[in-house]
Amino acid sequence: MERADPGAPTVSEEQSPAQSNRAKQADAPVLDLAGLTHYFGDVRAVDSVSLQVFGGEVLCLLGPSGCGKTTILRLAAGLEVLQAGRVSIDGRTVAGEGVAVPPEERGIGLVFQDYALFPHLTVGENVAFGLRGLGASERADRIDEALAAVGLGGFESRYPHMLSGGQQQRVALARALAAGPSVVLLDEPFSGLDVRLRDKVRDQTLHALKESGAATLMVTHDAEEAMFMGDRIAVMRDGRILQTGTPDELYCRPANIFVAELFGEVNRLDAVVSDGQVETPFGPVAASGLDDGVAVEVLIRPEALRLSRAPGTPVARIIASRMLGRTSLVHMSISDDAGRDLHLHARVPGRFLPEEGEKLSIALDSSQAFVFPQKSIK
Ligand code: ATP
Repeated sequence: MERADPGAPTVSEEQSPAQSNRAKQADAPVLDLAGLTHYFGDVRAVDSVSLQVFGGEVLCLLGPSGCGKTTILRLAAGLEVLQAGRVSIDGRTVAGEGVAVPPEERGIGLVFQDYALFPHLTVGENVAFGLRGLGASERADRIDEALAAVGLGGFESRYPHMLSGGQQQRVALARALAAGPSVVLLDEPFSGLDVRLRDKVRDQTLHALKESGAATLMVTHDAEEAMFMGDRIAVMRDGRILQTGTPDELYCRPANIFVAELFGEVNRLDAVVSDGQVETPFGPVAASGLDDGVAVEVLIRPEALRLSRAPGTPVARIIASRMLGRTSLVHMSISDDAGRDLHLHARVPGRFLPEEGEKLSIALDSSQAFVFPQKSIK
């Protein structure tokens, strides 16, 4: 058997990297970012960010362009010099407290938006890039395993230009996973892909990441993608984390208007709190924790409005109906108590296309209505 170089990353002979990742304690974070703050000149790109990612978990950093997502990823990777805070991987400080471990010694796999494959190297050689120091036969096994994990077995001798965008993305993922990293960092990994290909590649990527057992931090600005990929999502704005939770928590219990709107269109109504609730055309909605007299916005998801041809109040007049595939979108108008005309959207599963001018009764699922003070973060 060939011997590994003395300086090479050590890999247990009994356990595959994926097994060793999965054996890690579930209650100790694998990637621990504590109190990161980062300036570019006067711009505070990252502001007091703390995040923990556990083994086998995918955490998505979600937010609009320029909110600091990539900077956090680069600080975790060691591609940006840490200014304040601490980065730990597997319980070891890799940046902060006078320590600065270089990227290649942090036990991380990186996938960038542009994949960054070496055009003059074959697929196998690209994947082998992260495996320097392993013996030839173990390296060949790892390349086979990594390519099989992303569904590209048999592609070793092709060159990147002979692959589709989706295949190139999967080679980049295989390269990142081949050395069995504790942490995988992905920066908008699907943004270069054709929409039709994207769903499939996302699915394959999620499976490969879960199989690897690594702690994954992925940057995206696409809320649906974050919900698809993330066990948890951290929503960012202006360098800060506004809310962290499971997709279900963020969708069903958003912390503010900004988070609620990030996960899909909402209907907005103005109201004032009275006796711990607000009056809406659909009846009272609880406004827990808000004082009487506070001006609020009531946010109602389009799927929270139920339309029916059975008699009832209030009555909505249909403006237009559109089939959108899995759901139908109904534009309608209702009058509120003050006689103002409100334009609302309802989203109904399947095909439901009432005629323009038709009048339907409308009811609200109040679990999908959120009440926020008008000064809530928007
Ligand atoms: P995007 O989704 O567009 O990539 P992002 O959320 O990843 O955005 P960052 O790339 O982290 O945001 O940038 C955060 C802020 O820091 C932005 O205001 C950006 O202009 C600024 N910034 C990022 N990198 C640098 C740099 N090298 N020099 C100066 N300013 C920078």
